[in-house]
Amino acid sequence: MIPMDEIYADPRIRENMNACINCGVCTALCPAADYYDYEPRYVERIILMRNADALEELMSSDYIWYCGQCMSCKARCPRQNAPGTVISALRYWSQKLGLFIRSPKGRQQLIIKQNIGKNIYELGYCVHPSRLTMEEHPEQGPVWQWILNNLEKVHALVDGNIDKNGPGPMRKIPEESLQEIRSILEGTGAIDLWNQIEMEVINTDNDQNC
Ligand code: SF4
Ligand code: SF4
Repeated sequence: MIPMDEIYADPRIRENMNACINCGVCTALCPAADYYDYEPRYVERIILMRNADALEELMSSDYIWYCGQCMSCKARCPRQNAPGTVISALRYWSQKLGLFIRSPKGRQQLIIKQNIGKNIYELGYCVHPSRLTMEEHPEQGPVWQWILNNLEKVHALVDGNIDKNGPGPMRKIPEESLQEIRSILEGTGAIDLWNQIEMEVINTDNDQNC
């Protein structure tokens, strides 16, 4: 049984569910609803139902991973709700409770952790050209290969300062700032959650191979 009281006490849920009137404005303007069979209003409805089975099913599905976290829904909701923030909390709980492993998009969290998470921790960037090698990302194609071969020249065109000290796009993040980023990731429990995601995926793969 999922811990309903704890989930509903999460401030991201508690403070973003001010008597939803199911008007559907959030769905009407949601960009993710254009691409997927997806409605933020549906998420709000499940939360309002306060039904443990329905909530567990939602957190075990691809549904919560469709949201692009743009927060357009927050700007327009007549009740000042923020479905995007509620979804952010549901993602956290899905990972915390190991439910993410049950859906394909949920399992992609491991790849995100191993790539974007690692890049932020080590370099201070979500994405960095040095991590997009042709060996690992052949799908990038020949244009990307050319960019990699001419990184300095390309960045100079946009006043970039790639991997160098001082200001400018793609500058080297100073060690002091990196330490701050790492402290935040550790202090907020993000690192523990990343490790938990990794272990859940490894354990599931092992179970399937037995
Ligand atoms: S816009 Fe606000 S009130 Fe309307 S359905 Fe969405 S969350 Fe509920
Ligand atoms: S935050 Fe998510 S649910 Fe809200 S409008 Fe953006 S994509 Fe849709």
